[in-house]
Amino acid sequence: MGQALWPAKPQVAACPRLPGPSTNRARSHTPFHSAPAAAPLLRSPLPRRFRYANPVASHETEAILEMFRQTGAYLQGHFRLTSGLHSPEYLQCARVLMYPEYAGQLGRQIADALQALTHLQTFDMVVSPAVGGLIIGHEAARNLEARFLFTERNAEGRMELRRGFAVEPGETAVVVEDVVTTGGSTAEVVALLRQAGVSVKAAASIIDRSGGSADVGIPRIALATLKVVAYDPAACPLCAQGLPVVKPGSRPT
Ligand SMILES: [Zn+2]
Repeated sequence: MGQALWPAKPQVAACPRLPGPSTNRARSHTPFHSAPAAAPLLRSPLPRRFRYANPVASHETEAILEMFRQTGAYLQGHFRLTSGLHSPEYLQCARVLMYPEYAGQLGRQIADALQALTHLQTFDMVVSPAVGGLIIGHEAARNLEARFLFTERNAEGRMELRRGFAVEPGETAVVVEDVVTTGGSTAEVVALLRQAGVSVKAAASIIDRSGGSADVGIPRIALATLKVVAYDPAACPLCAQGLPVVKPGSRPT
């Protein structure tokens, strides 16, 4: 790649400063490393009682959550999750991924984790369910040197490949999402690819809201594993207070 194709100095000024990454493989041009060591970190505006209960108290998960806090991606209120459950908190991945530097960083981390999970296999493609998986899947594919495809729901609500995307029997793939809650979307993409004869090796997401329990039938990793506070609507204390519920994800209902 010619040097002129890549800007010599990425624009990082618009990105909030974050603590250093947990991996020593991060490249020096990321905003993590370009922030001066003495730079004061933005403080989380959230009181501790609003923070996610975190059953996997890893340094990696904490570093990802800090990225969400710093970018305003950690929302509080009254949300209807895709599962239909209600929650007082929501991680809006789009708010982090609107910073290309952070999208790139997360894509590298997912690619590294997938390589570790599959013992350095290579893949022909990364496939993501639209809309949530588009940016992170594309960044992961860049780092895995694979092509990137995405699925969309048709009028009946079923996942399908459109836009001339073609796959061949015998090809290999990984499925990448922004957030896994039940694993339903990832499992649908896996099934779609298998019907086409593609060998799906693993799945990944930035966030796992299932506490690690979501089973998609293939090896799976997440950069941050959490257990969200979620209520059945009939027993939701926020509904009982009469607070309007918001659907923050990409699906209309
Ligand atoms: Zn509610």
